[in-house]
Parts: sequence; structure tokens; C-alpha cells
Amino acid sequence: MKSLRILMLALFALFAVTLSAQKPNVYVLATGGTIAGSGTSSVSTNYTAGQVAIGTLLDAVPQIKDIANVVGEQVVRIGSQDMDDATWLLLAKRINELQASDSVDAVVVTHGTDTMEETAFFLNLTVGGTKPVVMVGAMRPSTALSADGPLNLYNAVVTAVSPASVGKGVLVVMNGRIYGADGVVKMHTTNVDAFGAPNSGALGYVLNGKAVYEASPKRPGGRPMFNVSGVDELPKVGIAYGHAGVSPDVVESMIKNRYRGIVYAGVGNGNIHKNLFAALEEARRKGIIVVRSSRIVSGPTSLENEVDDEHYQFVASQLLGPAKARVLLMLALTQTDDWRKIQSYFNLF
Ligand code: GLU
Repeated sequence: MKSLRILMLALFALFAVTLSAQKPNVYVLATGGTIAGSGTSSVSTNYTAGQVAIGTLLDAVPQIKDIANVVGEQVVRIGSQDMDDATWLLLAKRINELQASDSVDAVVVTHGTDTMEETAFFLNLTVGGTKPVVMVGAMRPSTALSADGPLNLYNAVVTAVSPASVGKGVLVVMNGRIYGADGVVKMHTTNVDAFGAPNSGALGYVLNGKAVYEASPKRPGGRPMFNVSGVDELPKVGIAYGHAGVSPDVVESMIKNRYRGIVYAGVGNGNIHKNLFAALEEARRKGIIVVRSSRIVSGPTSLENEVDDEHYQFVASQLLGPAKARVLLMLALTQTDDWRKIQSYFNLF
């Protein structure tokens, strides 16, 4: 009788091991943000980001264990307003390691929403391999009524284990939608439906535990545009914001502080106020790369419209807004100072 019980237990254990071996292995890299936020009230927006550890977050969504074997790793624990170049490089290198590991099928990155689009874009330019990489966050802290983090996290894992996500580059899953890293933008400061892709639209959605794609990203994943394996620091690039009556002070200060690139968040189609034009020309004369972008959330900043880019050697950011244009310019400057070559990178977007 006793030996029968031992045999039954052994069979059950073997069954459990076989089942978990069949499930994909998802590696969750945690960086903090509201998804790990904790507040003193369930009905207020007052809370501190990044308080809850990744193990606790995963334990709050036991359904994830039905679809994946999940391992969590806490990379940093910050509000994403404090994101920096060093953490981007750390994340890119770690994900490239995971892409090369036989025991990992997909990667999920939990992240604050404030700079999620910048991190997603940085990773999309620097991570190789075709395994899905899915970024996710939340707009409400884990202690709020109707916290959106648990479902977002579940949907992110659903997307990460979907064979349809292979080779799509870095994805962002928020509020039931799947976005490509190049097009995604935070569009609302507080609403749970905070993200959009005003130029390209969402790639798809997640419903009832299934990821459904309606479109493919313009640039497929696979080969990284930039190899950062030997890069420990990124060139200094700043953003100057255009507005009526703008002064050249910010641009002059960037020249003085030896920035290697300046992104101008211009008005309209990246147009430049006359007060600022001379300072940007001066920057270019000193070898600084000047990228014209726009403070407008949709549409391109296109070459050769109201500004003679060829004459001034300015670069037009195409469909990249100022924050993403800065990311691309930093990475481009690790390779070249040639403004035409840098324009060719921007022309891919
Ligand atoms: N500001 C914090 C961050 O971006 C919280 C905002 C959020 O995650 O939604 O990490």
C-alpha cells in the first residue's frame, strides 16, 4: 500500500515536471514604476512608485503560472522619471544575454509609464534576437481599487508567450493593447488608457488570454541597429523646446557644456524661431549635430520644407518625437559624427 502511494506521488511529480517543461520560460526584469507602486489609500493617486518587489507582483497574479514558468529579477527599483543611460545600457546588455540563453523563451520588463516609450525605443535599437521582449506598467498603484497592474502583467506574459510575437521587436502592452516600440507614445498623464501610437496605430490587442495582431511593425526585430556591448557611456544630447518668444539661452548653454547633439522640439513641422536660429547654426558650426523634431504629437518632421536642411546641415527627425529622436541621436553618435549618415538613420522611421 505504502509503495503504491510512493509510486502515485512519483507519477504525479513527473506529470507536474513534464507540464512545467512544456510551458515557455519567461524572464521578468523589474525596474519599478507604478505597477510596483504602493499607496496609503485605495482611492487616491498619492503613492510612491517602485516599492513592491517583483516576487510580490508575480504572486499577485497566480494565473501567470498556468501559462508560463516565470523567473523574476529586480534590476532597479525606481520611478521611471529617474531612468538614466546607465540603466538603459544595463537592461540592453542583460536582455541580449537572455536572448542568447537556451533556457529563456521570452522577456518581460516591468517599468514606470513616464519614460516607458523611451526605454522601449532604446531597447528596440540595441537588443538582438527574435524572442519576444514585452514592456509593461500600470497607471494605478498596486494598492488602488481596480489596480490595472495585475491584468497588464498577465496580458504582457500572454503576449510574450504568443508565437505571433516572435520577431516583432520590443513591444509595449498596456490596457489590452499591443504597441510597437518605435510608434508608442504616452498620451495621457493619469488615465489607465494612457498609451497610443498616433502615427502607426496599435499592432494588436490582448483579449481573453490571447494576443491578436492586426499589423506588423515597420522595422522587424532581429538584428539590433546598434551594438552596445562595448559601450559604457552615451554621448551628451539635450532637448530644447520651441515656443513663442523662445530665447537662445538653453541652446547656448548646451554649446557651452559641450553637448554632442541638440534635438530641437520645434513648432509645427520642426520650425525654428528666429531668436534661436543663429544659436543652432553656431552649434552646427562647432560640430554639434542638430536634429529638428516637433512638439506636435503626430506627423513627421520632414526634410526640406520651411527649413533648408541641406544648407544648414540640420537633420530632420521624420516620425520620431523629441524624446525618441534624442535616444536615436545618442546611439548614432556612438558610431559617427556625419550628419548625412545620421539623417539616413532617421529616414528609417
Ligand atoms: N512616475 C512613475 C514612473 O514612471 C509612476 C508613473 C507610472 O508608472 O505610471 O515610474
